[in-house]
Amino acid sequence: MGRRPRRVVLATRNTKKLAELQRILGDRATVVGLADVPAFPEEPETGATFAENAVAKAEQAARETGEMSLADDSGLAVDALSGMPGVLSARWAGTHGDDEANNALLLAQLRDTPDERRGAEFVCALALAVPGGSTIVELGRWRGVILREQLGDNGFGYDPLFRPDDADGRSSAQLAASEKDALSHRGLATAAILPALLELLSS
Ligand code: IMP
Repeated sequence: MGRRPRRVVLATRNTKKLAELQRILGDRATVVGLADVPAFPEEPETGATFAENAVAKAEQAARETGEMSLADDSGLAVDALSGMPGVLSARWAGTHGDDEANNALLLAQLRDTPDERRGAEFVCALALAVPGGSTIVELGRWRGVILREQLGDNGFGYDPLFRPDDADGRSSAQLAASEKDALSHRGLATAAILPALLELLSS
């Protein structure tokens, strides 16, 4: 008798994130997004930390769909801003997802911050929830510095202002998608949660 095909819900509508996880899982499981499951009212992100938001989203998706569910939350933590924008990264300048305004505000805030104090990190929390069962969460961190002007056209969000410590002096917006996946906070969190996910998929 053949094995039942396994599915995992990734609680997102971002098709790039869905494709990336599907690439990693290959034929071990089918990844579906929120557009592929019956609609449910999504709770607002009110957590104080990336982990709280990721766990809440994954547990809600598992509860609503009855399927194993993953959810992520990510953002930029700037040393000179005591870890902000943090969970407010997407709406730092006031409007959700306005990358240009967010970048302009961050540059203005750090105008007088000297090079040696421009450290920052991208952080990603990735949570895996099993319906009626347990939830685990893993964090990925990617250290770098905030530049004084935007560099590069790839990526999204704060990528043009972030120079990772491990990318030969390029900004993360100057990396190819595959290079960024191999180094990034999201790539590291995915790698960290993969053993538990594969274990669940094979059980
Ligand atoms: P989300 O968790 O993917 O919705 O990301 C929240 C916000 O954090 C985004 O809107 C971006 O402002 C920022 N962010 C998270 N990850 C990245 C990244 O890899 N590059 C640039 N900005 C990011």
